[in-house]
Amino acid sequence: MQAEIVMIGTELLIGQIQDTNATFMAHALAENGINLYQKTTVGDNRARIIAALDAALRRADVVLCSGGLGPTEDDITRECVAELLQRPLIYNERLFAAICDRFRHIRFKITENNKKQAMLPQGAVAIDNPHGTAPGILVEDDRGAVICMPGVPHELKPMMTEHVIPYLRKRFGISGVLHARVLKVCGMGESRVDSMIGDLITQGSNPTVGLLASPDAVRIRIMARAESVEAAEALIDPVDALVRERLGGAVMGCEPETLEGVVDRLLRERGWTLGVLEDITGGAICQRLTAIGSVMFRGGRVQPLPPAGAKKVEKTIDMARGFLLELSVDCVLAVQARLEERCSEAAFVSPEHAETWVIGSFGAVERNQVRTAIVSLEQVRRILLGLPPIGS
Ligand code: ATP
Ligand code: MG
Repeated sequence: MQAEIVMIGTELLIGQIQDTNATFMAHALAENGINLYQKTTVGDNRARIIAALDAALRRADVVLCSGGLGPTEDDITRECVAELLQRPLIYNERLFAAICDRFRHIRFKITENNKKQAMLPQGAVAIDNPHGTAPGILVEDDRGAVICMPGVPHELKPMMTEHVIPYLRKRFGISGVLHARVLKVCGMGESRVDSMIGDLITQGSNPTVGLLASPDAVRIRIMARAESVEAAEALIDPVDALVRERLGGAVMGCEPETLEGVVDRLLRERGWTLGVLEDITGGAICQRLTAIGSVMFRGGRVQPLPPAGAKKVEKTIDMARGFLLELSVDCVLAVQARLEERCSEAAFVSPEHAETWVIGSFGAVERNQVRTAIVSLEQVRRILLGLPPIGS
């Protein structure tokens, strides 16, 4: 049994966007022990898409595609699959009702070309897409199975994980599970984490340990192969404990936990309400807290940056204290840029704390905003838990 991938989109071919979907798909196949020998990228051209699918179907049992399922003129994947497999496209009333529903929900006006997304090659099955409008398409043909997924990554990923992989595992007769737990570390760089647990990364076989750095956290993935999720968890537990011991409190939590979620929980345990005052982060801290529906966050203010060359800036801790009284909350996190010194100063005041710390700035503005927001929240987490501060 073999799978192949056909990526569809001129943008991909000419390098306008990075093909993160292909990486994700290939990785998911490998994780599940499904053989992948070839990956093809083709532009939005009918003849070439059909030729690429045809060639892939000659070699493989299953062909996975991404892109071109949208409503516009250049989205022609479904037409190409229909033509290749000689199955007429059939309008599906129920599918269209679901698409209309979705548009109503997001309060967008539906247009005539959306009807195209309710067309399926005869005998095909629609794959549910709760994150977008175009459903995925699965056609089982004598020549093999063709699975089409949308190009938008946040639609493709859940579709692949929740529907396509389980289907392939069944079809390829794969038993057992590959289960991962992802620990998150904030306020510590990838190289530092690597220097503390590098031996676990190189030595591990089951479970394996891997590192993934992104602007919001360093993720440590502990992955085990076993007969059941429970058995995999049992293999993961001791490695998890070892990692936490080595990193001494720097592990903020496990995916899907978020840093702001952990801070909110710690505040909830104390019954402390929180206010946030920020400038350089442009609302990034408030945004994170509102996005998770923080219970203890009671309001914030985004201030303009201090004027260039301003000599007399208020101390951040004094600003935090002032905002605490103004908002009548129990604690305040305040972050203020020190542009001349290329850093920010942050302060946290609570019934038990009055702490100030400095956060270095680097990188592009938006990246720096994310980093400063994360480091500030991580410092608050450490203060609330009585852990040593970042960088110690
Ligand atoms: P839509 O309904 O948005 O038209 P679609 O299924 O037709 O979705 P495409 O039109 O091919 O998909 O791509 C939509 C968008 O998704 C692209 O503009 C791009 O931003 C992103 N995208 C497409 N393919 C990939 C890919 N392989 N990797 C990463 N992003 C992608
Ligand atoms: Mg499209």
